[in-house]
Amino acid sequence: MRRFVIIGAGVSGVYLSILLKQKFSEDQVIVIEQNQAPLKKLLATGNGRCNLSNKHMNQCYYQSDCLDVVQKIIQDFDMVKQMEKLGLYCVYQGDLLYPKSEQALSVKNIFMKRAQDAGVTFHYEQEVLKIEKSQPYIIHTSQQRLKADCVILAMGSEAGKLSGMNASRYHLLKQLGLKVIEPIPSLVQFYTKPVLKTLKGVRVKGTFSLIENEKCIHQEKGELLFTDYGVSGIAIMQLSSFYKKHHKYQLYIDFFDEMSQNQLCEYLKKLPDHDLEGVLNHKIAVYFQKYQHLPVSKLASLLKRFPLDIQGIRDAQYAQVMKGGLSLKNTNEDLEIKKYPGMYAIGEILNVAGMCGGYNLHFALASAYRVAEAIERKSYVKNS
Ligand SMILES: Cc1cc2nc3c(=O)[nH]c(=O)nc-3n(C[C@H](O)[C@H](O)[C@H](O)COP(=O)(O)OP(=O)(O)OC[C@H]3O[C@@H](n4cnc5c(N)ncnc54)[C@H](O)[C@@H]3O)c2cc1C
Repeated sequence: MRRFVIIGAGVSGVYLSILLKQKFSEDQVIVIEQNQAPLKKLLATGNGRCNLSNKHMNQCYYQSDCLDVVQKIIQDFDMVKQMEKLGLYCVYQGDLLYPKSEQALSVKNIFMKRAQDAGVTFHYEQEVLKIEKSQPYIIHTSQQRLKADCVILAMGSEAGKLSGMNASRYHLLKQLGLKVIEPIPSLVQFYTKPVLKTLKGVRVKGTFSLIENEKCIHQEKGELLFTDYGVSGIAIMQLSSFYKKHHKYQLYIDFFDEMSQNQLCEYLKKLPDHDLEGVLNHKIAVYFQKYQHLPVSKLASLLKRFPLDIQGIRDAQYAQVMKGGLSLKNTNEDLEIKKYPGMYAIGEILNVAGMCGGYNLHFALASAYRVAEAIERKSYVKNS
């Protein structure tokens, strides 16, 4: 009997535990989790609705140091089909895939039921502190030591504060001498200067550009929310994935992305006193009253390229993911650590960060699937 030890009861770890136990019912599958309960982060995903995947699945929606490997993993995984096998019915709403129930809770319940049915063992409130590089591996937790023939690193990230903010996940990797790309928050809000406090709570639909040295780094069409520290909203979260530490950025807001600057000029000319009350949110119109005296071309250009200085990004606890983590250069295409046969890594602990829209859950589950298939293939070769 072999023993598989999975570190982390996030969505990637729990899904892999089900797949392994279904494939190798005679073997022991243990999941070690530092929290009191599994899948805490999953419950918060998609505002409690769990956006599992996206119709447009491609490496261009990810950042990683090995995008070729990411592409193979994401394209080989059919989320709808694999979730159906667990008893979870998923439907597309536009491009986004959700469980039919629109509840992350039903995803959690299905995963835990299937894990229980299969006979997976869970050890909660145990933090893994060290992995001895012996054969078998010896896992040191805050409460016990246990041997493992195969170890899977599924420790996720501190994003969202739901998987613990402690640094043990990265210490473990460093102890093993593995290359770690410094993790920074991504899919997160911006601090701005000035902070437009009078606009707090106002949502704007438009096009938003991340600018560095007058150059557009990335542009997003969507929604922005003004807050009492800066700006939030899906479009801003997407832009944040292009943010790099120690760089200076500006955000340009295009309030009228449906018109060219010339068209906007012509339109403004027709407005009595250039009064924006009838064309923008009331609070924004009031804010722009101070610019009403400007020549129409200047006012139009301000409305098309309204600048805010970006002062930084918010902390990991407000982020949806961390960019960085275990470099894919440490692993082969099956996510097995090259230095340590029988040790694998899956999910967000890896240096793979997707955009908003179901890309991160897709990778978490697809990487678990890839590893389960790889272990099965390896076992078949050994036994034949
Ligand atoms: C608010 C929010 C909303 C999101 N919404 C979406 C969405 O709608 N769609 C989408 O695709 N993605 C979304 N994401 C991102 C997505 O949830 C994550 O990328 C994904 O859940 C990562 O899964 P994981 O299993 O790799 O890691 P995690 O979910 O982070 O799980 C890792 C687990 O490992 C445990 N652990 C860590 N270190 C140790 C240790 N040393 N010992 C023992 N246990 C340890 C942690 O406690 C945790 O339970 C969202 C994230 C957040 C925060």
